[in-house]
Amino acid sequence: MEPDTTRKDTIFIILLTFFIACIVGFSGYAYWVLLDTKAKLESELAHTKEEYASRSAFLLENIDVLQRLLATTTSKRDDLEKTLREEQVLISAMQLQVESALGTVGTLEKLSTTDTELLKKYSRVYFLNENFTPKTLEVVPSQYVFQPEKEKKVYGEMLPFLFELLNDAVGDGIDLRVLSAYRSFGEQSTLKSVYSVLYGAGTSNRFSADQGYSEHQLGTAVDLTTKQLGARYTAFEKDDAYRWLMEHAYEYGFVLSYPKENTYYVFEPWHFRFVGKSLALRLHIENKYFYDLEQRTIDQYLISIFDR
Ligand SMILES: [Zn+2]
Repeated sequence: MEPDTTRKDTIFIILLTFFIACIVGFSGYAYWVLLDTKAKLESELAHTKEEYASRSAFLLENIDVLQRLLATTTSKRDDLEKTLREEQVLISAMQLQVESALGTVGTLEKLSTTDTELLKKYSRVYFLNENFTPKTLEVVPSQYVFQPEKEKKVYGEMLPFLFELLNDAVGDGIDLRVLSAYRSFGEQSTLKSVYSVLYGAGTSNRFSADQGYSEHQLGTAVDLTTKQLGARYTAFEKDDAYRWLMEHAYEYGFVLSYPKENTYYVFEPWHFRFVGKSLALRLHIENKYFYDLEQRTIDQYLISIFDR
């Protein structure tokens, strides 16, 4: 064996031993570090677990408190809702009572303020006399009167309906005018005498209603004409104004009192009577005239005659 070779081997062994020692040392150190880290982590985890446990205990407790609170609130709310519902039922009941009481008052008030005398005259056979004068009479605005210098009056509560009719007619290009309105018992008698002198007693009875039967004494009947036609009554039937009235008068509560071929009285295309919107509508739909109706049917409409 060469001495050089032995030396080389020895150096190699020493180096190898050193290297192994290094590896072992490092591994040991690494292992120790790992163990230490593990211990630290474990301790930290334990700590975190502990903290977490305590926090969740706290949260659970809070949830419990909140749930109990919620339960109380819900029950309180339910109680409130129940009370509210009960209150609402009570209020509705009270409203109903008040409404029905008011309704009764309304009807009673209506009856007390309505001209019962006038309503009684709304019948198939009515007998006016010198004692009857409408409760309120109001002057028709002069621009709607054929002879503006002559004051024309109508039943007070009826005027707004007439005013609207005249206004709308003018709006539609129909120059409607009031030729005759309220006539007292005396005026009616005088008129009849004039007719009697002119046409003889027999004719005048058909021409101008007996003063006792005249609707003009009620204050709710008007004779209408146009600015152009004036007192030429007979031409009225052929006029646009007559067609307009036949189409629209009912919308304002007016009806033709004596239509063509009625069995009650001569045809008067210019003579309109106020019967209230509901009754006028019914007559228009059923194509009837006032005197076609039974008295009990007429009576049903009287309480609401001046309803708008
Ligand atoms: Zn008339």
